[in-house]
Amino acid sequence: MKIHFWGVRGSIPSPILSSQIQAKINAVVQRITPQDLESFDSREKFIASLPDWIYGTVGGNSPCVQLTTDTGKEIILDAGSGIRVMGKSITSPSDDHYSLFFSHFHWDHICGFPFFDHAFNPKVKIDIYSPFEKAEEYLAQQMPSIQLFPVLWENFSKNFTFHTLEEGKSYQVGDVKVCTCKMSHPGASYSYSFEQNGKKFVYATDVELMDLDSGNKENIEMVFKNADVVVLDSQYTMEEAQAKEKWGHSVFCYAIDFALSMNIKKVYLFHHEPMYDDKKINSILSAAKWYSTFISHDSVKVELAVEGIEAEI
Ligand SMILES: [Zn+2]
Ligand SMILES: [Zn+2]
Repeated sequence: MKIHFWGVRGSIPSPILSSQIQAKINAVVQRITPQDLESFDSREKFIASLPDWIYGTVGGNSPCVQLTTDTGKEIILDAGSGIRVMGKSITSPSDDHYSLFFSHFHWDHICGFPFFDHAFNPKVKIDIYSPFEKAEEYLAQQMPSIQLFPVLWENFSKNFTFHTLEEGKSYQVGDVKVCTCKMSHPGASYSYSFEQNGKKFVYATDVELMDLDSGNKENIEMVFKNADVVVLDSQYTMEEAQAKEKWGHSVFCYAIDFALSMNIKKVYLFHHEPMYDDKKINSILSAAKWYSTFISHDSVKVELAVEGIEAEI
């Protein structure tokens, strides 16, 4: 399986600001020396030496992750603003089919859907999965009249088929096995595991790991236990989490504790706080790596979910 991050930001799409670009330029100017400019090679070496927070950006689109199975079937996880970029960047699948899973229907996870080009292609069919019985109603509320969006839901949704999942069961969706479990989040959210050829990938966003329902331990373990790669909510620093108890998100160090308890091999920190700039988010990654070394002796690998990157599972 292969994943591609199209949107990694939480709560609301957050485009990079001019002041943040200026801070990056300032940081480059302060670091460069005359020797760095001497030749093509020295310039390339200097660029390669820049930290990720200066040379790139984590990205501002809200959640959307593409999962391509080993046989090329396309699965989409959430339809935040990242799905618009996905629709502009790739051609539709050879079988003209997507399976789209929603963690929940908060606005940051659905706001890109009306802008997904492939949904307007009459050949493309989309199967939509979630444990929410009112899934279609929630999505339709984004496009109820042309005063609110220029395309009506009834015209947009002609090729969609809705499926309501139950936690604790496993499903065969295309060529992968899928399980889901309820997590702690205002209005509830669901995490999903996808298994194929002995590998397990889990998508778990908008979860407050300190507030998990202990009565649901069996289903949570069914989804998370022994996963190879987990995309996991880690929106907050410790200070922020204390001020935002019951807001439904996690601190990066709890994400690592949870990963260790579930024997997860690799975590991608996800659903980044919209108020944090690239420098702050990369400092969270450094702290998370340090914490993982300290607490798990590196048995849990930690990476940052960054818009545009891909990972093999
Ligand atoms: Zn969210
Ligand atoms: Zn949410």
